Amino acid sequence: MSIELNLKKIKKVVPQDIKLIAVSKTKPISDIQKAYSLGQLDFGENKVQELIKKAETLPKNIRWHMIGHLQRNKVKSILPIVYMIHSVDSIRLFEEINNRAQNLKKKIKVLIQIDISQDQTKFGFSFDHIESIFKSNELERFHHVSIDGLMGMASFTEEKRIIKKEFLSLRKLYNKYKKKYSFKYLSMGMSGDYKIAIKCNSNMIRLGSNIFGSRNY
Ligand SMILES: *Cc1c(COP(=O)(O)O)cnc(C)c1O
Repeated sequence: MSIELNLKKIKKVVPQDIKLIAVSKTKPISDIQKAYSLGQLDFGENKVQELIKKAETLPKNIRWHMIGHLQRNKVKSILPIVYMIHSVDSIRLFEEINNRAQNLKKKIKVLIQIDISQDQTKFGFSFDHIESIFKSNELERFHHVSIDGLMGMASFTEEKRIIKKEFLSLRKLYNKYKKKYSFKYLSMGMSGDYKIAIKCNSNMIRLGSNIFGSRNY
């Protein structure tokens, strides 16, 4: 199936008020151009070098989302280009983003990644850690970071019951602190589980293989 048809099909079933990030990691420029020609402007990448290279070539009105684990020494190079960082998973990373953004006189949109899954491979704050941070107000000193919401990845499992439970745990945290931090986005749901995520009130989904086909690493 073509990228154009995939995207059209997805847009038909996904409500308009849900932000769709097209995850283009490992995919060529030409694939991004196809989605772009249909009006898709939000693209997700998980490697800094790849994101920078693609951004150099592609139209400037594309909004680049950094969705993968971000190393602090890469923050400086990505800040001038990135629209939103979905994967802030430590206070030290917050600090680095804030300091570099201050130098650029910018305010950077971020999501805080929460480790909601049973898998050992995922990054993110634990629920206990982030709750103690939220209660302590220690994020308030990061004036150059706009905390736009929370992001989580569910376990890789066929068991919908587990996925749903994980999404609901993130929704609960989101709702608890939504007012205090003026959250806008609850980013959860990938190709395999976005329908469950939407039922759990996700308003930002990140789809790769559903749009661009499976990836060969
Ligand atoms: C790769 C990736 C996605 C997209 O995965 P698909 O299963 O191809 O839709 C979404 N979110 C993150 C954080 C990713 O790394």
